[in-house]
Parts: sequence; C-alpha cells; structure tokens
Amino acid sequence: MNDLTLAPLTVVGAGPAGIMAAYTAAEAGVDVTVIDENPLPGGQYLRQSPPEFTIPDVVAAHSGHPEAAALYRKLEHPRIRTMHNTSVWGVFDGRMLALAERDRVYLHKANRVVIATGAYDRPLAFPGWTLPGILGAGAVMRMVKTQWVLPGKRVLLAGLGPLQLPLADLLLESGVEVVCVAEAANLFLGWRHLSGFWGHGDRIWEAYTYIKTLVQHRVPVFHNHAIVSASGKEQVETATIARLDGSGQPIAGTERQFEVDTVCLGYGFLPSIQLAMAFGCEPRFDENLSWFVPRHNDHMETTEPGIFVAGDVTDFGGAKVALAEGRVAGLAAAHQLGALDDATFNRLVAPALAELRHMNRVALALQRIYRFRRGLAFLASDDTILCRCEDVTLAKVKQALADGAIDLHQVKLGTRAGMGYCQGRCCSALIAPIVAKETKQSISTLHPFTVRPPIQPIPLQMLATGAVSMAVE
Ligand SMILES: Cc1cc2nc3c(=O)[nH]c(=O)nc-3n(C[C@H](O)[C@H](O)[C@H](O)COP(=O)(O)OP(=O)(O)OC[C@H]3O[C@@H](n4cnc5c(N)ncnc54)[C@H](O)[C@@H]3O)c2cc1C
Repeated sequence: MNDLTLAPLTVVGAGPAGIMAAYTAAEAGVDVTVIDENPLPGGQYLRQSPPEFTIPDVVAAHSGHPEAAALYRKLEHPRIRTMHNTSVWGVFDGRMLALAERDRVYLHKANRVVIATGAYDRPLAFPGWTLPGILGAGAVMRMVKTQWVLPGKRVLLAGLGPLQLPLADLLLESGVEVVCVAEAANLFLGWRHLSGFWGHGDRIWEAYTYIKTLVQHRVPVFHNHAIVSASGKEQVETATIARLDGSGQPIAGTERQFEVDTVCLGYGFLPSIQLAMAFGCEPRFDENLSWFVPRHNDHMETTEPGIFVAGDVTDFGGAKVALAEGRVAGLAAAHQLGALDDATFNRLVAPALAELRHMNRVALALQRIYRFRRGLAFLASDDTILCRCEDVTLAKVKQALADGAIDLHQVKLGTRAGMGYCQGRCCSALIAPIVAKETKQSISTLHPFTVRPPIQPIPLQMLATGAVSMAVE
C-alpha cells in the first residue's frame, strides 16, 4: 500500500490559480494537497524548465516576472503538500480521484476539490494544418521558454488575441524572423470595448512595449486576417492568409502567401473542462469563447457541491484573473470546511471579489474584442482532417451526418472521431460547428463529448501492473 498524506482540500493544477487557491486555504488553516502533472509549479505562463536544467536565475530565464518566484514559494507553506509528476486521469464513484505518478496509480478520496487545470491551444482546421512545422502558440511558448528550443527560422504567427504579441516579442528577442502576424480580430471595431481598460494602464503599457518590438523589427501586422491554407512536401513551406468578412470567413481575392518553415497558431484556448465534467459539473456555453466552460457561482463553486473551479478552466482571463479566482475559491473552500466562520469569510471574500471584478473588466473587454467568430470554424475542405488521432476528415463527418447523426456523440460513434489519444479534447471544438450547421441547431445546445477515463493519457501497463492503493479523506 502506498502512503498518501490525506488533506481535506485537494487542488488539481499548480498554475497561478491552483497555487493561490491552495495558499489562501492553507493560510486559513486548511491542510491542502496540490496535484500537478509537471515536475515544478508555475502552470502555463509561469512554467519552469525541467529540474535537470542548470539555470542560475529561474525567474529571469523563464518569465521575467519577479512575482513568479514569490508565487512558487507559496507552495512551501507547511499546510500544503505537493504531488508533482502526478496526473489526475479519472473520477470514480463520485469523488474518488484516480492519480498516476510515474509507474504507480492511486485512488484518492477527495470530497472538496479546486479544479485549476488551465486551458490548451484551440486548434483551427484549414487545408494543410496537420503539416509538420505548424504548432500551437502555447506549445511554442513552452518550447522556447522552458526547453530553450526555437521552433524554426522563418515563422508566421496567425491567431486571435493579445497573446500573439508576447509570443512575437519572445521569438524576435530569441533571434527568429517573424514574417508577419495575422490577427483575426477586427481591431477597428474593438474601440467599443476600450472602457474596460480603465484603471489598467499597466496592461496598455505592456501591449505598447510588445508593439514597439514589432515596429522595430519591421514585422507586418495584418488585422482582420486569418490563415486559410498551408502547403509543403515534408513540412510547411508556404502559408496563405486572407482578409475576413464580418462573420469571420475569408474574402476571395485577398489572399497573401508567405514562405515559412513554421506557423504558430494562436486562435485562443479551450478550457480544460474534462475533469470538471468527470465530476458531473454542469457546463455552460460561453458566447465569446464559442465553447463550454463549467458553470459556477460567485464563489467559484460549480453545480457539484464542494467542487470549485479557478483560472483558465472557467474562461480565459489571463494570469491575474486566475490568481484572483484562486483566492476566492480558496476562501470559499476554507469556509465550507469550517476553517473560517461566516463573519471572517465575509470580511475576507469581499475585497477578493472586488479585485476579481476589477480584473474581469479588462478580461471581458479582451474577450469581446477577440471574440471567436463562427466563420473561422469553416475553413476546412472535404479532405481536411478534423480528428488527428483517428484521421477523420470533414467529408467523413459530413457523411455521418448525412447518414442520420444529429449530435457530437452520434458522429463519434459513426466515425471514431474523439476516440483517440486526446479523447476529443481537440476535435470536439472543430466538429461541433459542423454538426450545428448541418443539423441546423445552435452550437450552444450541443453537448461536448462524454468524458470517460483516462482523461489524461496513461500507459496501459500502469493499469495492468501498477500498484493501486487507496486513500480516503
Ligand atoms: C502563449 C501564452 C502566452 C501567455 N501570455 C500571457 C500574458 O502575457 N499575460 C497573462 O496574464 N497571461 C498570459 N498567458 C495566460 C496564462 O498562462 C494563464 O492565464 C494562466 O497561466 C492561467 O493559470 P491557471 O492556473 O488557470 O492555469 P495554468 O497556468 O495553465 O495551470 C494549470 C496546471 O494544471 C495542470 N493540469 C491540468 N490538468 C491536469 C491533470 N488532469 N492532472 C494534473 N495536472 C493537471 C497543468 O499541467 C498546469 O500545470 C499566456 C498563456 C500562453 C499559453
């Protein structure tokens, strides 16, 4: 039997949201277990290089943000136990978490959980998108910042959102040629949402510094443009962008082609909702994101009592929103566990909620400016692959619909889309708009693929031979 120290609160994810939730609850007197699949804390934005790398100044090397070191240190709180290199791959019997750590699997009873599992690169399907050399922006950020590997020499950035700017900045500073940035948002229409930036001068200054770098390097920026195709023999050699109409569809005759060896796709992120759904939390359709997030109340509690969410898993608001949501979730969990009485909880949660509202104003403005327009979902041609794990093309999906499928689940049964390695994390958001269009339903009424274990890939050998032990709260 493996030994697990049990804690009344389990936090999944050691990014900004998870760290802040754990620390806030620990400060209130709650023992917390933090679980993360990475070897070191930090999550996406404040990710650290592997411990095997010898790096004298971790903060300067990886994030340049002095607050990162202070954040990592919060996990040294005596009431916090961290389990790194550990994935949560399933939920059984309501509240039993299945964990995988190296060659062992555990079952861990967790009655109160903060899910802070973050988000992942949103895929965009267009002819040629599966060619080698076409990478997600988050993945490129990870390669450069933590593995110290450049993605290529001539890079085209195509995407939707402000994160293209720091990525372009990072690549230029690393000596990569950025041939152009194609931004899908129509920034001329963005002025309507500028009031959301009131009181957030630091964000405007940050954007200015990135834009200055682009101007200094004479990088052309095409707004209201998206990538529409890519081609190459062994890997991507050319990428074509085009101007978009009001619905986000390319306008014929506006194409421009670039010679590249790498394309970074940054069409936003999809929240990692799989764990929340495995707990039975109800999803809600988010119009700006054009995808599902877990429904939650003001205190970040989902529709499942005692299960909280915080950070990018709830919507994409950036690291500061993630911290603010983590603080609220940590306080609410501590209150439920009896570590804070009503008066103390109300006194502490009021400023935390005010801070979250302040941060959310700019996050909401950004989400509106960089709304995912539906037209972007229809760039694929019939032979374009939508499900990479099972090689399912758009034509096969259309055939399944012509054969009578009326929802995502039936398309899955008819084509195997979503049955592969990623369990539909990527293809569900590509296939859903097709299903909605062909069956004349609103995408918001479709239900994402049913979540089944393993929600994170684990070797079968682990299940066959790994010692299964059980720990209860
Ligand atoms: C390219 C890029 C640039 C960015 N630039 C900025 C920026 O300039 N400013 C800004 O404010 N924000 C930026 N962000 C956003 C920022 O990264 C996120 O908003 C922030 O990290 C969200 O924190 P989080 O704690 O919610 O999630 P994350 O930081 O993503 O952390 C989630 C953690 O959960 C772990 N996890 C997930 N599932 C499981 C599981 N089943 N089992 C175990 N562990 C699991 C993950 O490995 C990860 O460590 C950027 C993001 C990217 C990708």
